[in-house]
Amino acid sequence: MEVPFVDLYAQYLTIQKDVDQVLEDVIKESAYIRGPYVDQFEKEYANDYGVNHCISVANGTDAIYITLKMMGITEGDEVITTAHSWFSTSETIVQAGAKPVFVDVDDYFTINADKIEQHITARTKAIIPVHLYGQPANMTKIMAIARKHNLFVIEDCAQAHYAQWKGQRVGTFGDAGTFSFYPGKNLGAYGDAGAIITNNDELAEKVRMYSNHGSLSKHDHQINGLNSRMDGLQAAILLKKLPHIHSWTQERNKIADKYTQFFTENKIPVVTPDIREYGKHVFHLYVIKTDKRDELMAYLSKSGIQSSIHYPKILPALEAYSYLNLSLDEYPVALKHQRQILSLPIYPELSDDMLNYVVENIKKFFTN
Ligand SMILES: *Cc1c(COP(=O)(O)O)cnc(C)c1O
Repeated sequence: MEVPFVDLYAQYLTIQKDVDQVLEDVIKESAYIRGPYVDQFEKEYANDYGVNHCISVANGTDAIYITLKMMGITEGDEVITTAHSWFSTSETIVQAGAKPVFVDVDDYFTINADKIEQHITARTKAIIPVHLYGQPANMTKIMAIARKHNLFVIEDCAQAHYAQWKGQRVGTFGDAGTFSFYPGKNLGAYGDAGAIITNNDELAEKVRMYSNHGSLSKHDHQINGLNSRMDGLQAAILLKKLPHIHSWTQERNKIADKYTQFFTENKIPVVTPDIREYGKHVFHLYVIKTDKRDELMAYLSKSGIQSSIHYPKILPALEAYSYLNLSLDEYPVALKHQRQILSLPIYPELSDDMLNYVVENIKKFFTN
């Protein structure tokens, strides 16, 4: 049996009619850049989140960069973020001209909120928590720190569509929430796409302006900007996927439960994901920990099972940040995770047969 890490075509087949039809509609209307589908997606996404504004952009990386830039983050500023994330989170801080300040993670793979304050200086302007793998960071603690020190908060929700902290959707706690609709994300387009949500009217207007050549209406360029817009085709696909997102999230949670139950009941020596008491995890990724990570990964690969590492290097260890001369001893938990983490296949279309094949192979690996 072959178990791919993700199977986007399998998902397409479940919504094929809707998607084919809407793609034809967009083409007939030539609604390629912005236009009615983009407007409608922004409206529906903002409504879903109960926020005043959703501004679509070209991708999730731009969503963070544009937000930082329009918050006025610039050279000489510092932005605090987690040591463990996808590169975009810190890449955008540097794009804005600021210095990324990394904080170690907790057992939930999210920024350790108890370690944030010790990194705040007179130059600190913002905190970017990441709801990594679909699990909310501790937004209660993070928002309290931000208010106390008058810092902006940008929630990187690229892996956490519709996740909740204490019954409230992540992305709605901070000044802004940023999303990626990269194809493999929980809500994915068929190309690059992203969005920013916020209740701040002024920030929303600036972000909208900056992402579209510095103008709100044609030829009225008020500031120097970017060409960072969502395509009509991507918006149309996302609109057709929106009605399914809650059942897809439920399926992801069921698969996560089955994995954890199997590993626990069979006493498989892997550490299953710790789930926060007040969080609603959306399992973008199901990540186990084991000291035999590399051997297990190779074993699974030989059995036709794709697994993956998110991410092989923590952010402070990347070549791109060698100029910061960081000491990796500052990130003991993230560094330990870096050696142990393994992401197993998880997507709504993963069948019981496939899941059983994965866990039986993991069991075999540990009994041999
Ligand atoms: C995917 C991702 C992004 C960036 O999204 P793109 O749409 O690929 O630019 C940012 N942050 C995190 C945590 C991500 O996983």
